[in-house]
Amino acid sequence: MGDLVIAMDGPSGVGKSSTAKEVARRLNLAHLDTGAMYRAVACEVRRLGADHDDTEAITGIALSSDLRIATDPDRPRVTIAGRDVTDEIREPEISASVSAVARIPEVRRHLIARMREIIAAHNRRIVVEGRDITTVVAPEAQVRLLLTADPEARIRRRAAELAEVDHRVVTDSIMGRDREDSTVSNFTVATDGVVTIDSTDLTLDEVVEAVLDLAGAHG
Ligand code: C5P
Repeated sequence: MGDLVIAMDGPSGVGKSSTAKEVARRLNLAHLDTGAMYRAVACEVRRLGADHDDTEAITGIALSSDLRIATDPDRPRVTIAGRDVTDEIREPEISASVSAVARIPEVRRHLIARMREIIAAHNRRIVVEGRDITTVVAPEAQVRLLLTADPEARIRRRAAELAEVDHRVVTDSIMGRDREDSTVSNFTVATDGVVTIDSTDLTLDEVVEAVLDLAGAHG
């Protein structure tokens, strides 16, 4: 079978993970959630008590901690330094601190190398989601997509995922992370060759169908 890398970028709350997992299931591809890798490093940084602005300490932790991530869309599992952080990576405190980890160039270089190893290990048949996949991690991907949605739609979706949260907290969290992340990677404007799917008025199923259509042209 030939290569089929589907690279998907987009901001938080846009439905990237749900879309990526469903596309992987339907096409029998592996699934790599690159945000989970940055989040796992943030968990280890917290466990070891490193300061958010201690670039050297965070880099040391990222480079020395064994990070493993499962690629089965139905069995997500992330471990770092032998510790299972699959649930912990979703905690609000980790969402709030992960950008500080992700903006360190040395950390990015290290994780990007790991991502490329994982893509190769799956014979380049994989859906990869993140912020810089279409541009940096796998610009050679057969399908390159930017998923967008109005901020209101993203806030609504994220709030629906989290039970009983304050709407204002979700708004601050999503808008704040966009702001911090946008200093590191451009995930709001598609570069050449990248197809934009605006999901504001689409259901998850409609977005999945749109991606499958694009993948079909390469299948
Ligand atoms: O996708 P998710 O919201 O889980 O990503 C968590 C964080 O990881 C993002 O806010 C961003 O700081 C970082 N990230 C990144 N590059 C990626 C994926 C995630 O910088 N490819």
